Amino acid sequence: KLPGKRQTLAKYGGRHTVTVLPGDGIGPEMCKHIRNIFAAAQAPVDFEEVEVHSDQSDGDMEAAILAIERNGVAIKGNIETKHDSPQYTSRNVELRTRLDLYANILHCVSIPTIPSRHKGLDIVLMRENTEGEYSGLEHETVPGIVESIKIVTRKNINRIARMAFEYCIANGREKVTAVHKANIQKLGDGLFLEVVKEMSKEYPKIKMESMIVDNACMQLVSKPQQFDVMLMPNLYGNIISNIACGLVGGPGLVSGMNIGERYAVFETGTRNTGTSLVGKDLANPTAFIRAGVDLLRYLGCNEHADLISDALWLTLVEQKIHTKDIGGDAKASEVVNHTIENLLKLADRFA
Ligand code: ADP
Ligand code: MG
Repeated sequence: KLPGKRQTLAKYGGRHTVTVLPGDGIGPEMCKHIRNIFAAAQAPVDFEEVEVHSDQSDGDMEAAILAIERNGVAIKGNIETKHDSPQYTSRNVELRTRLDLYANILHCVSIPTIPSRHKGLDIVLMRENTEGEYSGLEHETVPGIVESIKIVTRKNINRIARMAFEYCIANGREKVTAVHKANIQKLGDGLFLEVVKEMSKEYPKIKMESMIVDNACMQLVSKPQQFDVMLMPNLYGNIISNIACGLVGGPGLVSGMNIGERYAVFETGTRNTGTSLVGKDLANPTAFIRAGVDLLRYLGCNEHADLISDALWLTLVEQKIHTKDIGGDAKASEVVNHTIENLLKLADRFA
């Protein structure tokens, strides 16, 4: 449940319009699965698809941003970022900064039948999504010397910290762990820590602790059950989120929300492209399906969200239809088809 007031989204004929950015890699095939599942669940959602890829073509980014501004919401696959040339800057990052999607929120929960190193995890990862190391400001001042600029602002730390504490209240959570490296980055991470500490005084019922990022990584892989809500600047948040996703079963399982004051974009938690899996019907669709569920909840379609979420749970936990990444031999389409069959049965029962 997201705290605070959200804008009322336009609905035409009782239906929402959602922007879809299929992106690269497995994104397009996953978006097809989402469409089929939404149709079976009779979710009141129409999709407006916009193609954006790593290769810049005129105006596609503008079209995507306009569509999201108009609809308020989007679901997306990852847009590949080639890292061999500085001319390819990440379009995923551009989207997040231009739409000011300042909070990246992942919920990593252990699923009983899915093999993992630790049991009983229930961690919320709250990552600052717009500044820090992702400023995109790098220069080679003289040959062989590069400056990469990390920018942090009180204003942006303030709003992500506010989101973390309010999220705790809205969801009955008890502890915020602020992850930092203020022993080395005295000013930048120092400011982060100071703002979080200050704000925690406004929330006496929520415990607040701080943990240096290296220790946080070690604690996560050895005793992850100690964590409740982890609050993190951008880059540490990226790394810690991937550790947490790995702990509950990998890139195919967890969804991620990108939330701002006005817009919201839903995607997979680890934002993989999955290039090697394309067209093989192998990629685990769970993370995308859960992104769809998050989207429906955001739209206030809670019954449809529950229906899909329960149907997916039956598929993964009761029927143990598992793709290769989690030790099974099912195809992606089998997970999707079972989920659809399950939700049709569940919907019948309520009819
Ligand atoms: P690349 O960018 O090289 O394609 P990714 O970052 O997309 O790799 O993915 C990292 C790893 O996670 C790869 O081994 C990929 O196969 C795996 N992976 C990504 N998405 C999924 C998925 N939905 N199901 C199963 N494995 C996945
Ligand atoms: Mg990748």
